[in-house]
Amino acid sequence: MTRQTDYDVLIIGAGIAGLSAALRLADRARIALLAKVSLSEGSSQYAQGGIAAVLGSQDSIEEHVNDTLDAGCGLCDEDAVRLAVERGPDCIQWLIDLGVAFTKESPLNGTTQYHLTREGGHSHRRIIHADDATGRASSTTLQQHVREHPNIDVFENHIAVDLLSSARLGLPYQRCFGAYVLDRDADKVVALTARATVLATGGASKVYLYTSNPDVSTGDGVAMAWRAGCRVGNMEFVQFHPTCLYHPEAKSFLVSEAVRGEGGKLVLPDGSEFMKGYDERGELAPRDIVARAIDSEMKRLGLDCVYLDISQQSAEFVKQRFPTIHSKCLEFGFDMTTEPLPVVPAAHYTCGGIITDRSGRTDLDGLYAVGETAHTGLHGANRLASNSILECLTFAASASEHIAEQLPLTEAPPPVPEWDESRVTDSDEEVLVAHNWDELRRAMWDYVGIVRTDKRLERAKHRVDNLRREIFDYYSLFRLTNNLIELRNLALVASLIIQSAMKRKESRGLHYTLDYPGMEETAQNSVLIPDSDK
Ligand SMILES: Cc1cc2nc3c(=O)[nH]c(=O)nc-3n(C[C@H](O)[C@H](O)[C@H](O)COP(=O)(O)OP(=O)(O)OC[C@H]3O[C@@H](n4cnc5c(N)ncnc54)[C@H](O)[C@@H]3O)c2cc1C
Repeated sequence: MTRQTDYDVLIIGAGIAGLSAALRLADRARIALLAKVSLSEGSSQYAQGGIAAVLGSQDSIEEHVNDTLDAGCGLCDEDAVRLAVERGPDCIQWLIDLGVAFTKESPLNGTTQYHLTREGGHSHRRIIHADDATGRASSTTLQQHVREHPNIDVFENHIAVDLLSSARLGLPYQRCFGAYVLDRDADKVVALTARATVLATGGASKVYLYTSNPDVSTGDGVAMAWRAGCRVGNMEFVQFHPTCLYHPEAKSFLVSEAVRGEGGKLVLPDGSEFMKGYDERGELAPRDIVARAIDSEMKRLGLDCVYLDISQQSAEFVKQRFPTIHSKCLEFGFDMTTEPLPVVPAAHYTCGGIITDRSGRTDLDGLYAVGETAHTGLHGANRLASNSILECLTFAASASEHIAEQLPLTEAPPPVPEWDESRVTDSDEEVLVAHNWDELRRAMWDYVGIVRTDKRLERAKHRVDNLRREIFDYYSLFRLTNNLIELRNLALVASLIIQSAMKRKESRGLHYTLDYPGMEETAQNSVLIPDSDK
């Protein structure tokens, strides 16, 4: 089937942000929705805990706003926080109306209430969830609606390469007209044009060796927007989850913080405990402190991992309390009822991203960014638990409203040139891509991880600059592949994280440096500007 290539709206990314934007616009516009792999592969699918929103009668907008501002360490944009928090309850109702089966309390006074849990940093129970698979429940429902909608064309196995910007087309004004996209099955680059383009490409945690994120989280949106001339902000604030299972095949598997809550101890290979040396709350210290302590012990002793031991609890209790974790670990050969689990901290969430306003607008007319790829100002220097899906839903809603208003006023895109492959050949050295990919992620892990120093950042910069030169040469000579596109983007995003980290001469939120352990009095965002910050 030959697909149409000109749309009203092109949405790049099919996580909760992209799916929501597509559905909200579909009755008013013709939409192309892109996913790098299948519709179901993205962080959204793996979200376990839930979505934060003011739903309980004891809770209030003010308290959710204040909790978010506290977590953000002085760098949240209060207007963005208010937008997300105020629109949260309606967006949850929207999901319920679409059919998402959130977990309910037992019937109370004839009405059935939704069960709300509480997570670290929240002053109330306000996390609505679908058991421990909220992301899957929400995404699956949204995907069903998207697939059924006649105005949405879904392009799976299509990876956007670069944006079609006016500058690229040699036009004298600033606008985005869509993107060049690699059809991975046909192995061909096509131009998809649109009056409005939405980047909903998720986070960039694959830039680190260890991550809880799926393979698609390679920061493509940030890289494409930067190359098209958009500013990015606060890229140094990367949230690390303290305990991912350390096993070559257990790529994204989180060992929940509840294991520590139920008495699990973090130990070194000789069985000695170390958390009390870092914080008197021991294993129950906040996530960032635990992640830093593990990182520090691994660096001090040159370890590949530390261990999480809950074997002192009865086997019956462990199996009943952690059925999923227990059975998943058994698959990898670890029985947590009798032995400690090898764990490492892992990059989990990208707080920074493409700078947008309250309507998801970027610096380029016609280009919007929503979800984890965007920097809306909601998270500041640290993300409050379960505020990220909230951001996907609420900013997708406000961006869609703006797009719908603008579409009738926007001219159709100009004709665009076909992708030029005349000067490239098939790669003769795929091994180079694999090697650079490993080297990049290892350098970021070792030098731009949980605990930073000026010296480590300098080392990382030197290595990443060299890699980027090599990748640039390779990119100019050889035909595009998915891995090459992702590597090019990862290397650029790595360099943006390093530049932002180097600018911040203080420790704030998720950015911790031994050279500047204190916090400056005035909080400032790290804003990088293309052309000024190369
Ligand atoms: C294990 C885990 C647990 C989590 N738990 C929670 C939780 O309980 N609550 C919470 O609020 N948050 C949680 N998060 C964070 C939250 O899931 C994510 O921030 C959020 O789902 C991101 O949604 P998104 O739509 O922005 O991106 P994603 O869901 O990551 O989707 C990105 C999409 O973009 C596509 N894409 C990327 N690049 C390209 C390209 N170049 N071309 C075409 N398509 C592209 C991908 O294929 C994918 O479809 C968790 C994250 C993880 C990893």
